[in-house]
Amino acid sequence: MARTFFVGGNFKMNGSKESIQTIVENLNKADLPSNVEVVLGPPAPYLAWTVEHNKQKTVSVSAQNCYDKVSGAYTGEISPVSLLDLGVPWVILGHSERRTIFKESDEFIAGKTKFALEQGLKVILCIGETYEEKQAGKTLEVCTRQLKAVTDLVKDWKDIVIAYEPVWAIGTGLAATADDAQEIHHQIREYLATAIGAEQAEATRILYGGSANAKNAGSFKDKVDVDGFLVGGASLKPEFVEIIKSRQ
Ligand code: PGA
Repeated sequence: MARTFFVGGNFKMNGSKESIQTIVENLNKADLPSNVEVVLGPPAPYLAWTVEHNKQKTVSVSAQNCYDKVSGAYTGEISPVSLLDLGVPWVILGHSERRTIFKESDEFIAGKTKFALEQGLKVILCIGETYEEKQAGKTLEVCTRQLKAVTDLVKDWKDIVIAYEPVWAIGTGLAATADDAQEIHHQIREYLATAIGAEQAEATRILYGGSANAKNAGSFKDKVDVDGFLVGGASLKPEFVEIIKSRQ
């Protein structure tokens, strides 16, 4: 079954009106492939602007986080319903920066994933091991633990995209090799088959994230279990368009 290639841009807490306008205009005038799904994740204050100014049919917008409530006394939090109201169909959940800096647990992330899906959002679910965990040979164990929290709660995975992002590769310039990414992506898919069934495992897209850029994106081209990228730093630069075109 052919999975649609997916490229997400996670701007993190970066950008200004001017720089985000440049990124969106650059994408608007690019000749983007019609068979690649592109999702832009600007900081929350720029979500509405990005939705309004995006002109590409294959590009949609993602929040970088949301809460597990519709509304109420939760100062500073973002409701999934507000995102849908703005025309934002996606949310990134479980990013390693949320897990480490903001102490979000596997269970909290799983609960937010379930809630976001129930409200009608689609979720880019991030998983991945730290350098120490990798050195200890625990990559698969960590990824499986993070996924299991979600597979225990969510049985329908059609609106989830997984982003495998080894923490040691994020923002370091040290991307995983395409062979290593393929191996762990394959193991993740095998785990999914046992947890949610072979058919859904086969249909679920698994992105690679961590220092993906225009130079290394092409090296993942023939990796059958790498269905795209979640791009941080390089999504703020013109080379993002080259990453989107890296499967052509
Ligand atoms: P990076 O970030 O591409 O800058 O390494 C990826 C991410 O954190 O999603």
